[in-house]
Amino acid sequence: MRKFRLLAPGPTEVPPQVLQAMARPVIHHRTPEFEALFEEVRRGLQWLFQTRQDVLILAASGTGAMEGAVVNACSPGDKVLVLKGGKFGERWAEICQAYGLTVIPVEIPYGKVADPAAVGEALRRQPGIAAVFATHSETSTGVLNDIEAIAAVVRKTPALLVVDAVTSLGVVDVPTDDWGVDVMVAASQKAIMLPPGLAFACLSERAWAAAGRARLPRYYFDFLTERKSQAKHQTAWTPAVSLVAGLKVALELMQAEGLEAIFARHERLAAATRAAATALGLTLFAERPTPAVTAVKVPEGLDGGAVVRLLRDKHGISIAGGQGSMRGKIFRIASLGYADAYDVLTGIAALEFTLAELGYPVRLGDGLRAAQDVLQK
Ligand code: PMP
Repeated sequence: MRKFRLLAPGPTEVPPQVLQAMARPVIHHRTPEFEALFEEVRRGLQWLFQTRQDVLILAASGTGAMEGAVVNACSPGDKVLVLKGGKFGERWAEICQAYGLTVIPVEIPYGKVADPAAVGEALRRQPGIAAVFATHSETSTGVLNDIEAIAAVVRKTPALLVVDAVTSLGVVDVPTDDWGVDVMVAASQKAIMLPPGLAFACLSERAWAAAGRARLPRYYFDFLTERKSQAKHQTAWTPAVSLVAGLKVALELMQAEGLEAIFARHERLAAATRAAATALGLTLFAERPTPAVTAVKVPEGLDGGAVVRLLRDKHGISIAGGQGSMRGKIFRIASLGYADAYDVLTGIAALEFTLAELGYPVRLGDGLRAAQDVLQK
């Protein structure tokens, strides 16, 4: 018998109560029953996003909400600023380029944090930027960017600020309205503790006005069409009914825990993971680590891919390797969503075994002890 565990930065584990809710018979979506459910999850999402605005619920993975953000914010010929510090910053650039926008990149070395002053400087050098695209928690490098500071800079200009909060929402404080973020996007398979398949987008009044003017082609992700339906607790297209049923329970679990407690739990688990990696003689990759996922440098002489494979195939634990140019150079252990201290300890114990099996000099227990020291506090 083998038990499988997800310690990857998405998809993450789903609580049994949520699985059970999703296993119930599918209801029809054009019914009062669905509308009551939808009304409740819409309210719950406003709580999670800390917003008075509508949070659109889309049947898509996170990239769908990203594409929706681009087509609803921009028009042909627009010049946009993209903060590129990893795979997901690059995805913003790729989507914008696919729609023919002129992308001005702010290049951030992998593992480093975006400098808000550099964003301000780029906006000064390039007048007429329509929108700035940023990543809050750059899952590919494990970096947490300072969106509050970036928002303060962008707000001094007419540009919209569009933020990928896919692995920061429900992990760290994301006060959408207070920070003045114009479009915030997220996805179900991370801290929201659901399977993949739902994406979320929250627009400011400014962003809604821009959506009315935006002229890029759009159909499925026409947020204005969607907003009209969702205001009536309906969706424009067939919703992912079972995921919405699961979302209701997931939001109830999150509300029972409370935002502050959720943020504190993620910080504590990530601190324990970082302490364990350091105690094992490993080096952390991120300059300013996100509590969603801990990126660890693969030490010289070790095969990073083998760490991920052995953990999965022998120990039943899915973590993530490096993406793109980071392949083989880092591995990433998440403590995200439905995760507790024992997930971290199990992951660290398995990592110790794996490193030892690959001939890396570890003393079993060193990482565990460091993690326990953090968790005991
Ligand atoms: N942004 C970030 C920061 C992510 O971590 C992810 C998922 N790994 C995404 C966006 C969206 O990806 P997907 O379309 O696979 O949900």
